[in-house]
Amino acid sequence: MNDKTIDKTTDKNKPQKTFSRRSFIQTAAMTAATLALPGCSRKEKPVLSTLTGDFDPLRSYPYRGWEDFYRKIWTWDKVVRSTHSANCTGSCSWKVYVRNGVMVREEQAADYPRINADLPDYNPRGCQKGGCFTEYVYSPQRLRYPLIRTGERGEGKWRRATWDEALTLVAEKLLDNIYNYGPDTNSFFSVIPAMSPVSFCAGSRLAHYIGGVFLSFYDWYCDLPPGEPLTWGVQTEACECADWFNSKYIVLWGSNISQTRIPDAHFAFEARYNGAQIVCISPDYNSSAIHADLYFRINPGTDGILALGVAKLLIDQNLIDVPYVKEQTDMPLLVLSGTNRFLRESDLKKGGKEDIFYFWDTKQQRVVPTPGSMGSEQKTIQLNGADPALTGTFQIQLADGKSAEVTTVFELLKKELAGYTVDKVAARTGLPANEIELFAKELGTRKPAMIIHGAGTNHWFHNDLSNRSLILLVALTGNTGKNGGGFNHYVGQERVWPEQGFFRLAFPETRKKQRFQNTTLWSYVHSTNKDPHLYNGKPIEWYIQESVKNGWMPLWPKNGKKPRAFIVWRANYLNQAKGNEILESSLWKDLDLIVDINYRMDTTALYSDVVLPAASYYEKVDINTTDCHSYIHPFGKACEPLFESKTDWDIFRALAEKMAEVATKKGLKPFHDDAFDWNRDFTQLAHDWTGKGTIQTDEQAVNFILGNAEETKGMTYQQLQEKPKRFVATDPESWNSDIEEGIAYTPFKHQLEKKRPWRTLTGRQQFYIDHPWYIELGEALPTFKEPVEEKYPLYWNTPHGRWSIHSTWRDHRAMLRLQRGGPIVYMHPDDARKRGLQDNDWVRIHNEVGHCVCRLQILPGEKPGRVTMYHGWEKYLGFKEGGWQSLTYIKIKPTQLIGKYGHVNFRLNYWGPTGNNRDIKVDVEKAKV
Ligand code: SF4
Repeated sequence: MNDKTIDKTTDKNKPQKTFSRRSFIQTAAMTAATLALPGCSRKEKPVLSTLTGDFDPLRSYPYRGWEDFYRKIWTWDKVVRSTHSANCTGSCSWKVYVRNGVMVREEQAADYPRINADLPDYNPRGCQKGGCFTEYVYSPQRLRYPLIRTGERGEGKWRRATWDEALTLVAEKLLDNIYNYGPDTNSFFSVIPAMSPVSFCAGSRLAHYIGGVFLSFYDWYCDLPPGEPLTWGVQTEACECADWFNSKYIVLWGSNISQTRIPDAHFAFEARYNGAQIVCISPDYNSSAIHADLYFRINPGTDGILALGVAKLLIDQNLIDVPYVKEQTDMPLLVLSGTNRFLRESDLKKGGKEDIFYFWDTKQQRVVPTPGSMGSEQKTIQLNGADPALTGTFQIQLADGKSAEVTTVFELLKKELAGYTVDKVAARTGLPANEIELFAKELGTRKPAMIIHGAGTNHWFHNDLSNRSLILLVALTGNTGKNGGGFNHYVGQERVWPEQGFFRLAFPETRKKQRFQNTTLWSYVHSTNKDPHLYNGKPIEWYIQESVKNGWMPLWPKNGKKPRAFIVWRANYLNQAKGNEILESSLWKDLDLIVDINYRMDTTALYSDVVLPAASYYEKVDINTTDCHSYIHPFGKACEPLFESKTDWDIFRALAEKMAEVATKKGLKPFHDDAFDWNRDFTQLAHDWTGKGTIQTDEQAVNFILGNAEETKGMTYQQLQEKPKRFVATDPESWNSDIEEGIAYTPFKHQLEKKRPWRTLTGRQQFYIDHPWYIELGEALPTFKEPVEEKYPLYWNTPHGRWSIHSTWRDHRAMLRLQRGGPIVYMHPDDARKRGLQDNDWVRIHNEVGHCVCRLQILPGEKPGRVTMYHGWEKYLGFKEGGWQSLTYIKIKPTQLIGKYGHVNFRLNYWGPTGNNRDIKVDVEKAKV
């Protein structure tokens, strides 16, 4: 600051007076005394000359030039609407302010239209991470140029390359693999299309046209709740968060919404003003628990037994909704006592169907086919005056003339639940028996009631069983399909609302012509992972072989080949992978080419061969949707992609062009892909990839999705830049409720109100799975199974946290300053005392799989017997050794490998083994550092 500046900011017409600290205090005291004078009425204005005259401390301050500079920080040339695609499920619309071509800050857009005047609205929507993304964009982690590795993988030695050189290297390798080893040796991995479908489709289209293997993500991350496809025949479907406000009983089950649903948590807490009570079920006393009317500090891994104990109480105390259960669930369906299989038409008639089922009609006193099953002619579940028996045992005559005994699923369920007495449940969960009884009573009487379900429950090995047990509670009480009710799972941003438009862009020649692969299975089989457990006396390898042999699960590449090339974009595969070091030393080592497309240097990028710099969220055109609300809004280009980065759409278009160029130069003949009888002419790849030249740009891709989906009919990208828009309809092929004016979206109204069959084999919410493996492994009905790991004393808990979205923002300066600046493990004081550990000690966390070394934080809210590390820390961010996934490994649950069972078939991110990571135990000791 120079003298000139000082002159400019000083009023020369007034005498300048220096203002010492002493005179300031004297003046302030005099003013206070004047104001406090007794009898000083409001009419008799106190003398304030000291405040209006020389008292102005700013006027007397000589250095005023900075003020204008400060004001200029808040000026801008333009504002562009954008958001973040970090897999946070937030989907918050932001305004990005740009000055002189620099993104200077962002602000919550706060213009989501209201659903109705009685519901709290979505404004303003955001979190602290979104509020500092502009800093991330310009941070040192930002990738600027294409890089080619020169040292060992992970060593951090690179050289700068041109786009042409890097793309030529990748294009040649992908083509070599196709012609020498087969197209199934090229693998592609990206996550959650809903958060930026155009970026996702850019790569999936390339995988599609070159016959590559497209890997799943939702099951691999263990965010997929397998109980939903099993029970409802959907991947997952939840109410939008505004509907929480309609609930009278909200159960936060393994879901810490204060930390992981920051933009939406208010709906649950505001619901208390609307008469709701909140129950929080979580081993740690966390930031959501403080809002609860009833808090259950449950033992880790025992959610299933609590749910089944409560189900027993609901039934015993007649708190179930009988008409709902008879119409909407498989509880009245008949099961043959001898085989434990459903009674089917094929049992009663020669040549009868396998997908027609029966209940006992109490009016006619005979078996009657259930309407709406997969084989039924009736496309409704309406009972048409029949009254299915829920209980009882009946004799029937089979097709061969023999008589057989049948009973109902409900009768079998009651038998199964008989062992879940309150005392037993209380002892195993560590909860007071009287509070479990209170919970059951309130769940059965407060309507509507909902479960908000989170990863805390879903990331366990027996997640399918606990999902099914929890879904059972809201079905028995008649809550599913009603506003304010149901089982609502929000982990992972899983559904693209304009789904049909998205599919057409992602896999243009129909999804049937794509090599899809479950990533859990792929990562297990192609690495040296070894699950030591036996399931019914057999190793998991036996189940895998059977499943693949039966065509239940695909396994690419075929014929014992290894994957050779791996392309990752919009994801951090290696950092998030279970059994990190195991994968690194096997699957990762076997790959000839790893390409990472990214805007920042993360762990996967660090361990890759070629890194291609991508545009950040504020430098591209795309759209964004979430299960948490029913609006769509855009990503916008606040500025052109920085440095040499490109949008994902432009990167994959350039790669398609380069592959076409290489194929032409090499004179490659079309490759006949036998699996699909597809003659792939790679010289035409760019032409195919761009939809014969019709979809060249990101914006054209957005408009293609919008124009090909019922949900967004009539919308254009430019309109979305104005403000978020609510979906106009729901495609019945994809959704189970309509979008209704003035009403928050909640699923399964088609089933409840329109009597449309559920998308399951039986056409009902199906709790009984009579697949032979389910019967053999004792899981035909929801049951409780103990966690599988026993050897070590402490559960290893790696939840989603407040200061990052997975690994994104983990390395953000501002977020690190809100914690201790590096990886921390939280431990209960008693556990620390037992081990002689002090707060902030360096500790070694270990088990037979591996170890990591980080700092300890002692936390009274943690559950004894468990330690917690919020997940996503990059391996290079402060661990002395290892990382948070060094202690985990992949274990596959046999029942999740089944297929060809009605609605239970492999589909990408719908059905396949989940990569659970909570069922792990460790010990902790002081580290020698
Ligand atoms: S990071 Fe997610 S929750 Fe936070 S502001 Fe962005 S979109 Fe919203």
